[in-house]
Amino acid sequence: MIVDFHTHIFPPQVIEARHDLLRSDSTFGEMYASPRARLATAPDLLASMERAGVDISIVLGFAWRDQDLCRRHNDYLLDWAARSGGRLVPFCTVNLAAPGAVAEVERCARAGARGLGELRPESQGWDLVGPEGEVLAELARRLRLVLLFHVSEPVGHRYPGKEGLSLASFYRFAAAHQDLAIVGAHLGGGLPFFVAMPEVRETVGRLYFDTAAVPFLYGPEAYASVPQEKLLFGSDYPLLEQERALASLPDPSLARRWSENALRLLACARG
Ligand SMILES: [Zn+2]
Repeated sequence: MIVDFHTHIFPPQVIEARHDLLRSDSTFGEMYASPRARLATAPDLLASMERAGVDISIVLGFAWRDQDLCRRHNDYLLDWAARSGGRLVPFCTVNLAAPGAVAEVERCARAGARGLGELRPESQGWDLVGPEGEVLAELARRLRLVLLFHVSEPVGHRYPGKEGLSLASFYRFAAAHQDLAIVGAHLGGGLPFFVAMPEVRETVGRLYFDTAAVPFLYGPEAYASVPQEKLLFGSDYPLLEQERALASLPDPSLARRWSENALRLLACARG
């Protein structure tokens, strides 16, 4: 069983409106200005899963500023997931700073969302270590949702979409909410590299880290810095093809091992 914990799909209407959305949403504009930045649909992803031998993909929403766009994107994820026979697992997105966020998360949970993500608080203009972060924590706890955050490495090269949540804010939120099921995308912005600090080790021990886009960021030794039972295979499809993401692992058996972590996390969150 192979679970890809980090994929992105967009509704066809969004792909058609790409040109206008580049101007109206600054984060979307930053990440998809280049015509080479691909946008994929659910059928594209299902075909990729077939080719790569991926059994289950977590499909993530996009952190739109506009709540209505979040809602339409959520509808697309929930609809395809409901028809996928369990192959697509939906994680929805809301703007916690915009009206209607709580009702939208409740609606998504009722319709089958298993988590929220990819969350980028700073891209949407709210502070994870503030009142909106507390609302998010309460929702995740009550509705048993996994939270998946984009986390930015504080060092290294710049690239479109790097900023979204600082490592410091992610750590503070995770340390303050140790009962929640939390995933730090992209190896959590490097948080596991600080495990020699006892308090960080304790927090890291309660988190999960996905490998999305890791081949663009780190050498293969990065995987060894994270406790193996905390890793989740993630491709960041279509930024990286699932086949290529699997082939980039230092050992092909790792994806299966890490997928067991993914299934355990989804089962625990559901309770
Ligand atoms: Zn990300």
